[in-house]
Amino acid sequence: MAPIDKPTEQTYDYICIGGGSGGVASSRRAASYGKKVALIEVSPHLGGTCVNVGCVPKKIMWHAADLADRLRHAAGGYHFENVPPPSFNWASFKPQRDAYIRRLNGIYENNLDREHVDYHAGFARLTSPTTVEVSPPNNGPKYTLHADNICVATGGRPTIPAEDVIPGASLGIDSDGFFDLEEQPKRVAVVGAGYIAVELAGVLHTLGSETHVIIRYDKVLRTFDPALQDTLTPWMEHTGISIHKRTNVVKVTGQKGGVLTVHLDSGKTLEVDCLLWAIGRHANTEGLGLEELGVELDKRGDVVVDEYQNSSVKGITAIGDVQGKALLTPVAIAAGRRLSNRLFGPEKFKNDKLDYTNIPTVVFSHPTIGTVGLTEPEARAEYGDAVKIYKSSFRSLYFSQIEESHKEPTVYKLIVVGEEEKVVGVHIIGQGSDEVMQGFGVAVKMGARKKDLDDTVAIHPTSAEELVTLR
Ligand code: FAD
Ligand code: NDP
Repeated sequence: MAPIDKPTEQTYDYICIGGGSGGVASSRRAASYGKKVALIEVSPHLGGTCVNVGCVPKKIMWHAADLADRLRHAAGGYHFENVPPPSFNWASFKPQRDAYIRRLNGIYENNLDREHVDYHAGFARLTSPTTVEVSPPNNGPKYTLHADNICVATGGRPTIPAEDVIPGASLGIDSDGFFDLEEQPKRVAVVGAGYIAVELAGVLHTLGSETHVIIRYDKVLRTFDPALQDTLTPWMEHTGISIHKRTNVVKVTGQKGGVLTVHLDSGKTLEVDCLLWAIGRHANTEGLGLEELGVELDKRGDVVVDEYQNSSVKGITAIGDVQGKALLTPVAIAAGRRLSNRLFGPEKFKNDKLDYTNIPTVVFSHPTIGTVGLTEPEARAEYGDAVKIYKSSFRSLYFSQIEESHKEPTVYKLIVVGEEEKVVGVHIIGQGSDEVMQGFGVAVKMGARKKDLDDTVAIHPTSAEELVTLR
């Protein structure tokens, strides 16, 4: 069903602003309780960041890169014959990837329809704690919707340095622009050291682009456990990514879409076809009317919420990236569903809320990373000498047939506390870590002790078995 884009003044039980992971999940859950629900989305494509310019197209590109590695391994160590060196046709693959995303957009729309959520196309602005003004596309006449419960689920967008801070910064692209690239850049510079920098640099390099990563300090993923930083950073360099450490971009010159010169504070310059900023994201709160209503934002601009996702104004809640904590799709979904359970569900859900501790997460690097719980510095700060570390470094069996210099590292680390050795952190890097992590996330959430892992019979031969046999 097409979105409502004509003036229609209506009163709802619940309005969600934003049709991304959080807004769609929360609105559908509310509607499943028989409530009258509206969802307002400004983009022509439902699904938000994850579906359009995030997790989904990113993971597809990661799979392409992973295949390139497998093809090299097949022809190399595994003695497959007539396997040509991988040559990825970005230009023909992109339309196919885009078509898949468009199908997902349609599925999102159908799901809203099936749950009887009214989908309004347009930009939403709160004009009172119970009214939202909708500005439809193409300057259509504005109209107003009313509800006692309004959820802000407007997500965020990439941060790019201002021109007056780094002249020429706008010649670069961000992660949204990455997904618009029609051709694979031959030479690329990625600025940043977080999830996106590591993931997109990994994809580009593995698919054959000359890749530079410019980082402010010495390691990537500095907020992750040191074992992960210390394994991934040198491995990225070993595979041929040039990491420019303790380096900042001072200026960018050239033509948009043409060759760019990236001037570094080391005095070096890099000639690239693409400069990609991956230095973090910020919340979409501009023009929403939040400050005018007294909704508190923190100094980063994120909506401040309590443990029940309530903002400082009664009736206005916020979920997902816009509230600045744990910017992950399953977090936005879980918070959104629980919020609707609490507001509209049966009595048993009247205190439902998302517990933000021990959220497992994966970085789709090469090799992948999985992590849950406290890092070692966090655990030591909280538990001091009661912390004990179990760690193992090894090569997975898959790499036994691969030449030495291409054997990816695997490092598994458990952080346990106290006499009962409660597991407070699991940090793993190595082939398959993305799939291994979920189950160990369950174990940590359940309060597993080291003994519980030891009592679990290993699955052999896998890498994951190492986590239940650590000594
Ligand atoms: P969004 O999905 O961003 O949705 C917000 C929606 O609100 C958007 O559609 C926007 O158009 C709309 N909107 C904004 N303002 C208005 C307005 N005023 N009126 C109407 N509509 C409005 N997470 C993972 O868990 N795993 C991953 O592998 C992963 N990979 C990622 C890769 C990249 C490159 C990026 C950028 C992010 C990735 N994430 C990943 C993070 C994940 O995409 C986000 O955490 C998630 O999409 C947040 O959902 P949300 O509902 O809060 O916001
Ligand atoms: P992150 O916040 O993860 O990382 C950005 C990093 O860039 C910072 O940690 C910082 O590292 C560096 N940085 C910050 N400012 C500057 C600057 N001015 N110049 C140079 N470097 C700078 O942001 P991302 O954009 O990578 O990702 C946003 C969020 O999206 C993630 O936090 C994650 O929650 C989510 N995401 C999740 C994914 C997944 O689940 N697999 C994948 C992608 C995104 P330092 O301090 O070391 O310089």
